[in-house]
Amino acid sequence: MKVPQRMKAFVLHDVMAWSVDEVRVPEPAPGGMLVRVLACGLCGSDLRTIRSGHRSVTLPWILGHEICGEVAALGPDFRGPWEVGQRLSIGPNVYDPNDPYTVEGRHELSAGVREIGQQWPGAIAEYVAIPPESVTMGNILPAPEGLAPQHAAIVEPGSSVIHAHERARTGLGDTVLVMGAGPIGCLHVAIARACGADRVFLSDVAPQRLELAATFDPDALIDASAQNVPERVAALTGGTGPTVVITANPSPQAPVEAVQMVAKGGRVVLFGGLPHDESAPGVDLNVVHYQNLELIGLSRFAPRHFRTSLQMLASGRIPGDRLVTHVLPLDRVDEGVRSALDGKALKVVFTP
Ligand SMILES: [Zn+2]
Repeated sequence: MKVPQRMKAFVLHDVMAWSVDEVRVPEPAPGGMLVRVLACGLCGSDLRTIRSGHRSVTLPWILGHEICGEVAALGPDFRGPWEVGQRLSIGPNVYDPNDPYTVEGRHELSAGVREIGQQWPGAIAEYVAIPPESVTMGNILPAPEGLAPQHAAIVEPGSSVIHAHERARTGLGDTVLVMGAGPIGCLHVAIARACGADRVFLSDVAPQRLELAATFDPDALIDASAQNVPERVAALTGGTGPTVVITANPSPQAPVEAVQMVAKGGRVVLFGGLPHDESAPGVDLNVVHYQNLELIGLSRFAPRHFRTSLQMLASGRIPGDRLVTHVLPLDRVDEGVRSALDGKALKVVFTP
């Protein structure tokens, strides 16, 4: 495969200031590989970096970590299983292989998890260098034939959501409330259903997001800007409350309300991180105590979740075609970023 010297890349220069620039194509490091990007998703964390920067990213920087691409070249001493021309789904997380948590399969707890797009330049570009650490880590898999690149790219967000439902033990008979109707909230709806949940409700403060999320067909859409969510949820469940509540938004009010609303003995998954200065909201821990609730903290995922997420995209259990509302070439990056920032898109994927 002939690799050019220069490529187009989405470069974030400053907070809210980006452009598509001509830059050098990266060299694959020894043991690493160079990938021609077929599709790269724009993630909520990319949007946060665009809006307010990121502590492990020094600008200017190429963002993007939800990757489908074709191997273009192998670095010297490459020992991975991949070949030039092979089409791969690439997850960003790189764990420390010697961390005791990694060794026992709890990769999400491994210290110093690094990510493509943060510690290494990202993939909203024509090419991306995949570091050697990532090549055999389990978060790179062959993209199934017949799965479109824009769907094979977005395996990572589903991975954490699958992890959440594994921890919450979502299953037959459960009533699930998902608070937050962004792309992650939509994934929670699809995956809770695939787990066998009986009913799934979706709430959001933005009616526009609920409208976009309606294609995921939750049993009730709850507009928190117009309705009292706890009252509506109580009415929908005959007063008992959902057995599982997922907070999929950054509002400190969400965990407080989740604990109020969840059924006795229910599970609350704290999926959305909170702003640093608002991370200690007044959750009533006596309710947790007396009603035997489970509060489940959740971030990151392990390779087994990545593999399941890719399978579910391939089988359509995660409906990639409904999740990805915008597939755009690199020169329409402005349109993609603005639609995502304004909440007019679910998932935006670039095809460089
Ligand atoms: Zn992501």
